[in-house]
Amino acid sequence: MKGLHLIILGPPGAGKGTQAARIARELDLEHLSTGDMLREAVAAKTELGGKAEGFMKSGLLVPDEIMLGLIREQLAGLGDRGWILDGFPRTIEQAEALSSMLEESGIGIDRVLLIEVDPEIVVRRGLDRRICKNCKAVYNLSNLPGGEKSRCEKCGGELVKRPDDEEGTIRRRLEIYEKQTRPVVEFFQERGGLATVDGSGEIDDITAELIRAIK
Ligand code: AMP
Repeated sequence: MKGLHLIILGPPGAGKGTQAARIARELDLEHLSTGDMLREAVAAKTELGGKAEGFMKSGLLVPDEIMLGLIREQLAGLGDRGWILDGFPRTIEQAEALSSMLEESGIGIDRVLLIEVDPEIVVRRGLDRRICKNCKAVYNLSNLPGGEKSRCEKCGGELVKRPDDEEGTIRRRLEIYEKQTRPVVEFFQERGGLATVDGSGEIDDITAELIRAIK
């Protein structure tokens, strides 16, 4: 299956990034993670990174106009290739702008996937999340045999905490999700094509369920 256009939604820490990467691999799609793009821009100290860093550190959303510029540029570079959007859209303004952008290019969204998880599980996962400083692979401390001393299983890189994975910041991101992103879920629910999956189980089972929901 090629050329699909998918969106994955869910609270921070629901496993969107992990699942989007797996879906992209399985269905040969481009994985577009706005969070990863912004973290790369911050690390590379670009103009975009400079604008985004403060918002990200405090768990706030980066302003819509910045995000829309970024996503427009990314989608334009993909041509006919299918994609899965991870972390975008996060506000109604972004959802509406994306819809008009896609309409102009004659692209339809094939499926919107929603991963639902209990907020307390999200907090726990955020505190236990470690990412590879080098290749950005995501791990959970409870699955790492070497605990805090573990290295990345893919590239041997150092595992670090994301600066926005502090408890206060995680809770603020959850509140912002409810206030600003929940309406995006409703936006797509009204338009049809939304599939909800429980994100509290095993990673492999969740992937299988998501793939079933897409096909
Ligand atoms: P994520 O990796 O998706 O959790 O994103 C990390 C952070 O990047 C978020 O907490 C926001 O500060 C910022 N961010 C990512 N995507 C968006 C977006 N679509 N709109 C606004 N801010 C975003």
